[in-house]
Amino acid sequence: MVNDMLKQPVTVVKGIGGETAEALADMNIQTVSDLLEYFPYRYEDYRLKDLESIKHEERITVEGIVHSEPSLMYYGKKRSRLTLRVLIGRVLVQAVIFNQPYLKNKITLNSTVTLTGKWDQHRQMITVNELHAGPYASEKEFEPVYGVKGKVTVKGLRRFINLAFSQYGEYISELLPERYLFSYKLLDRKTAMQIMHFPSGSNDLKQARRRFVYEEFFYFQLKMQALRKMERENSKGVAQSYDLDQLNLYIDSMPFSLTNAQKRVVNEILTDMKSPFRMNRLLQGDVGSGKTAVASIALFASKTAGFQGALMVPTEILADQHASSLQEMLSPLGLKCELLTSSIKGKRRREILEELKNGEIDILIGTHALIQEEVVFKKLGLVITDEQHRFGVNQRRVLREKGESPDVLFMTATPIPRTLAITAFGEMDVSIIDEMPAGRKAIETYWAKPDMLDRVLRFMEKELSKNRQVYVICPLIEESDKLDVQNAIDVHATMMQYFQGRYHTGLMHGRLHSDEKDAVMQAFSRNEVQILVSTTVVEVGVNVPNATMMVIYDAERFGLSQLHQLRGRVGRGDQQSYCILLADPKSEVGKERMKIMTETNDGFVLSEKDLELRGPGDFFGRKQSGLPEFKVADMVHDYRALETARNDAAELIQSEPFWQDEEFADLRQYLKNSGVLEGEKLD
Ligand code: ADP
Ligand code: MG
Repeated sequence: MVNDMLKQPVTVVKGIGGETAEALADMNIQTVSDLLEYFPYRYEDYRLKDLESIKHEERITVEGIVHSEPSLMYYGKKRSRLTLRVLIGRVLVQAVIFNQPYLKNKITLNSTVTLTGKWDQHRQMITVNELHAGPYASEKEFEPVYGVKGKVTVKGLRRFINLAFSQYGEYISELLPERYLFSYKLLDRKTAMQIMHFPSGSNDLKQARRRFVYEEFFYFQLKMQALRKMERENSKGVAQSYDLDQLNLYIDSMPFSLTNAQKRVVNEILTDMKSPFRMNRLLQGDVGSGKTAVASIALFASKTAGFQGALMVPTEILADQHASSLQEMLSPLGLKCELLTSSIKGKRRREILEELKNGEIDILIGTHALIQEEVVFKKLGLVITDEQHRFGVNQRRVLREKGESPDVLFMTATPIPRTLAITAFGEMDVSIIDEMPAGRKAIETYWAKPDMLDRVLRFMEKELSKNRQVYVICPLIEESDKLDVQNAIDVHATMMQYFQGRYHTGLMHGRLHSDEKDAVMQAFSRNEVQILVSTTVVEVGVNVPNATMMVIYDAERFGLSQLHQLRGRVGRGDQQSYCILLADPKSEVGKERMKIMTETNDGFVLSEKDLELRGPGDFFGRKQSGLPEFKVADMVHDYRALETARNDAAELIQSEPFWQDEEFADLRQYLKNSGVLEGEKLD
């Protein structure tokens, strides 16, 4: 536990007054420990360098001999520029110092000076921030640089932290179990803290950082693993004794045989359902890998065990589609599957709710909003949610806490890189479908520059003439729905003009009313519309097997995973499908991304690449990543530490001593304070 002395407000530190405390509060610094744990985001490097080892625009500290009388020039009242030549080793460079005219008198010809500033390789020039007359004599090699806000300056913050450390440093106590400190040779907390703020050398810094990376991951994983244990062992879970014979009949009646990957995950899911523990499982599988088929089996199993099931999806279009495919699969076996969306109102809605309550409906399909509303099941056994990576840990908990503690299966078609999976979904079990049904034709993807639009239109014409359909996806304008819509309208006009009289064009975007969206979507699936111009609302789950081509405008604006998701709308039938990326990326990374898209159809490869190129924050999209924020650690670069911490936490949580020994009392208290245990398992 953080020592109580450190939980006091920052004003207990002598030298920090009320006004400072207010300014610090704006930076989320309230207590002494907040202040001490406010780590630098980078360090100013004052180590002496030689010019050969320096890159263009890098900040450097060098020692040299003054080779020319400094010349001072004023421009404007307060602005000045001091220029001199300095011999560094055997290289003569220009040094420029802005707005520090008084330095002129400190500089004498042939004397030694130490300069800190930015190196311009092309002009062989240093823009100097600091000049020290005399040889290099820095007592510090690194200086911390903090993110600051409002009235707080970096220098000020350094001073406050210094005050806090000298007055309260002695109360910094260890938070990690001895055994991990020992086996990973981690610095103790106080030493590491001191180094983070007052570093002496780069190796020390590396060690201090290593300690806090582990600490952050360990605490996070401890919570995740405890959550996982609590949820698994919660005796309120339902044990669903399904009828295996009936289930096999259903599986045999399917128009295809399951892939090995599907069989494996079906078994994992059924094992969970049968156990008295509550299932809390994530099912990952690329688009088209057959997740819906797996879901139908689980729902059917639940029915044979005498329970109802629910399938939740993010949009009404999807709800509609899933409802009809589940009806097709399960109605012949006598199951009653119903759709409930916000557009179903009045008498019909009341009927559905009534039938649900008295158990006539076996499976309810709807949007996520369903579960929070007035919907009451008679005996809910299984909840499946699709495409849930948009939701964070807390939303997932709300779902699980609904009424009767049903088993919960989360499905996602966005392959999630392993590091993110164990972070964002650390409390869950994971099943992966890593195999596609046999005989799928790989989608051919091409990258075209926008000035090739004419050729692309002719290509579209060729596909359309074979009685196929085409999606046209419109540019994404960050943070502006309105512009997205305008773009879609413009592109729609282009298509109308080009294909007028030959093919019908539909328009779909987020501003349409859900009835309108439905109407457009219906028309497209009935092939009354051949060209569907759309914003990314078609992204998830839509299934029109006759659509064999997708054109994506401004493809460079989308992430790789999203492009892959979009592309997954085609290639759903027997025909060869195509995806054209219209893009003119300016950066190398942008070009790289387009190339990768044309080279692979493997969602997992793309997701790893996407994470690498964009970082974890952007991976799930800006809105609601559900990812925790770490102060020091970086999920991608420190993934080894993440895995280590995860294994350690899992092992510890499962061990008897953790729940009994005094040694772990603080960690148990920490879990309790974070609400993970809700007091059930303790005392
Ligand atoms: P997902 O939900 O993962 O995108 P679906 O379950 O919708 O995938 O399956 C995509 C298509 O593949 C559907 O038309 C489905 O009938 C078919 N399918 C599913 N599993 C198999 C299989 N094992 N063999 C052949 N086709 C399959
Ligand atoms: Mg699906």
